[in-house]
Amino acid sequence: MPIDPTRPYDDSNVFAKILRGELPCKKVYEDDWALAFHDINPLAPVHILVIPKGSYVSWDDFSANGSEEEIAGFVRAVGKVARDQQLVVQGYRVLANIGKRAGQEVAHLHVHIFGGQPLGPMLAR
Ligand code: AMP
Repeated sequence: MPIDPTRPYDDSNVFAKILRGELPCKKVYEDDWALAFHDINPLAPVHILVIPKGSYVSWDDFSANGSEEEIAGFVRAVGKVARDQQLVVQGYRVLANIGKRAGQEVAHLHVHIFGGQPLGPMLAR
């Protein structure tokens, strides 16, 4: 069920539970600003989710309300994960779904990193 990408933030979502250690994840990277882990239902050989440590519903919420430090830290974490996974030379895709039309399912901002194979057209037609 697509979620509402605007505030308020509801901390009962699955990624909030992962951040609190109430649910497990296959962790790839963590720092003060971000946690990265393997998607539970991978759509490519590399499919990693990167989430901010702060409580943000979506890219819309984060870009409007995140601090400069949080935004910089998160963006750098996404880039670092891709470099650490050796994705840069072959190329990779970063994607965030925001709200209903994009099919956002989890109400905590997450950026998908896809790689490890040719990724095809940007959108299905
Ligand atoms: P989105 O459609 O952009 O909201 O993507 C949500 C993503 O979260 C999907 O790719 C799911 O496979 C993934 N997902 C849901 N629950 C978990 C979980 N517990 N651990 C890892 N990935 C998850």
